[in-house]
Amino acid sequence: CGIIGILGNSEVAPRLVDALKRLEYRGYDSAGVATLEDGHLTRRRAAGKLKNLEALLEQSPIRGTSGVGHTRWATHGAPNVVNAHPHTSGRVAVVHNGIIENYLELREDVVRAGAQIATDTDTEVVAHLINRELEAGKAPRDAVATVLPRLKGAFALAITFDGYEDLLIGARKGSPLAVGHGEGEMFLGSDAIALSPFTDRITYLEEGDWVVLTREGATIYDAENHIAERPESVSSVTA
Ligand code: GLU
Repeated sequence: CGIIGILGNSEVAPRLVDALKRLEYRGYDSAGVATLEDGHLTRRRAAGKLKNLEALLEQSPIRGTSGVGHTRWATHGAPNVVNAHPHTSGRVAVVHNGIIENYLELREDVVRAGAQIATDTDTEVVAHLINRELEAGKAPRDAVATVLPRLKGAFALAITFDGYEDLLIGARKGSPLAVGHGEGEMFLGSDAIALSPFTDRITYLEEGDWVVLTREGATIYDAENHIAERPESVSSVTA
């Protein structure tokens, strides 16, 4: 299973799929991508191998220069297209590796507040929680900062927002996540191998960190929401 996020300067869907191919070695049962097409979230998902997702994208392409991608290894919910990531709610799309242990309790909470549950995953509730904070008037960054402390379990997350083509937020707790620094482009990925087609300049998030990316760079926060300095290294993985 794996995660990729790109704030780029060229068509992003093929780049997302390319990166996901490099994460195939981790195993997966389904895959999906979401992009911001003219500023608006759009997604494609497929059960099975990445070639199914590629065929779908060929039939029904999506444009845009920023987006997220995911290969899923199902823990909650059958490995089908409905449960494939990205998961969306309103203006938010989320990809997740790991397990949200308290998802049942969180789900009750969002359902009470009027959310429609579309999948059997533990992940979907994260999109609803963040979207609810946006609807309450919070900026994306503050919405994520509010929701992260409520999530129990292990996760790597990448989150993208309708209307925000220059924003990508990631979080790491118990599952690895790395930031890739490009030339006027920024990346998130499960590891340096996923990022190797784009950059060898990598910053690994530490346990509990979360990160706000724009094409200008990354601001990393620790679990207490203090700005954290994490070293940038040069990866020896070659594309
Ligand atoms: N727990 C999530 C799901 O079942 C994510 C699984 C993964 O790590 O790919 O959808």
